[in-house]
Amino acid sequence: MLEKVLVANRGEIALRILRTCKELGIKTVAAYAKGDENQMHVRLADETVCIGPACATDSYLNIPAVISAAEVTDTTAIHPGYGFLAENADFAEQVERSGFIFIGPRPETIRLMGDKVSAIRAMKKAGIPTVPGSNGPLDDDSQRNAQLAQAIGYPVIIKAAGGGGGKGMRVVHEEQALHNAISLTKNEAASAFGNDTVYLEKYLENPRHVEIQVLADGQGHAVHLGDRDCSLQRHHQKVVEEAPAPGIPESRRQEIYDACVQACLDTDYRGAGTFEFLYQDGKFYFIEMNTRIQVEHPVSEEITGFDIVREQLRIAGGEPLSVSQEDITFRGHAIECRINAEDPRTFMPSPGQITWLHMPGGLGVRVESQLYQGYTVPPFYDSMIAKLITWGCDRDTALARMRNALDELIIQGIRTNTALHQDLVRDAEFVKGGVSIHYLTRKLEKG
Ligand code: ADP
Repeated sequence: MLEKVLVANRGEIALRILRTCKELGIKTVAAYAKGDENQMHVRLADETVCIGPACATDSYLNIPAVISAAEVTDTTAIHPGYGFLAENADFAEQVERSGFIFIGPRPETIRLMGDKVSAIRAMKKAGIPTVPGSNGPLDDDSQRNAQLAQAIGYPVIIKAAGGGGGKGMRVVHEEQALHNAISLTKNEAASAFGNDTVYLEKYLENPRHVEIQVLADGQGHAVHLGDRDCSLQRHHQKVVEEAPAPGIPESRRQEIYDACVQACLDTDYRGAGTFEFLYQDGKFYFIEMNTRIQVEHPVSEEITGFDIVREQLRIAGGEPLSVSQEDITFRGHAIECRINAEDPRTFMPSPGQITWLHMPGGLGVRVESQLYQGYTVPPFYDSMIAKLITWGCDRDTALARMRNALDELIIQGIRTNTALHQDLVRDAEFVKGGVSIHYLTRKLEKG
């Protein structure tokens, strides 16, 4: 087992990682930015190191600062959480070169999956179904590009190979707009991601977002923890997630699970990962792979009773997977609502001090949050401040518990999107299950 883990993150995920480390008797180091000294995980860590000012580029994204923190504390391994440096292959490489263990996939795997063109190629080769598309970068030959789009059929979507966070994408409905859209996306990609490679895909008009959680030890073993539906999104940001995805035929599910596990083995994958798919008309289409723990991992933990962070730590420590596929059983249904510090109507961030806090409880209710009464939400980072997760023996029970949990939740002093969630868990279409990725945007437009 690992002796000492440095948590290179903040907020709920830092606390989540810290808790499992403590449970396993692993010593902890919190690497925090100035202003974050009052974070719950910083208070609870065995050691703490300030890695720079509040601005993330100078602290949580500052590779030399994080590695120095590991050096001065004689850390064994670094857990990057999600966001920040979690999918930065250069960081993973430098961590390993400095003699520490990176809790995640090998740097070359992160690099392969970080470029969507190479990721799609690798997945195709491994037998994963992908979206019909250019199967490679687009060049400047507008005639060839027009023929390609024609053959695939409009609408098409131009995507940046290095894109992320829902940025660097443009939908094209007709040939006249194609050339311009390619140039615009290329320019945007060059300035936003430092890589102007773009590719083209069929634009699926009414898909759901369904993803598969996997774990592999890089020693010839891989398992899946089932699927999650994350279709309720706003500006490509997930708002509500659930497991399992409602209404997918069992045979379809099994096929895609098997393909994902096989792809992990083929690529010698190590660690936790997620295969993201669009799901439309009974078919799965791979869009990207995330080589880290995800925000929505708790819903998979709830239906399997399996601690994903614990397994990440074990794998990083060089141990083989603690379970085989037959050991993983699925039970009931889980839902997660992301509580953000933002105005429920305008979605403007709402940082500030929490003057009153009451977290919900009861059977099947889990809260992942760094909040406590008196805590001040800083304006510098992502606005997510809590995740409410409910489990039930079936979807209706999980939903009923979520309605209760949201009604019990009190956060005063700042604005939150709790009211939006209260509305969503009572929305007839969502309650029925299986809405598309456009559902929330259209619902909000209707008002
Ligand atoms: P990012 O890395 O920025 O999250 P993704 O490739 O995962 O980019 O795509 C983000 C979102 O964009 C998807 O969840 C989906 O809503 C939309 N999208 C991406 N590709 C397509 C496509 N081919 N057809 C329809 N929607 C798409």
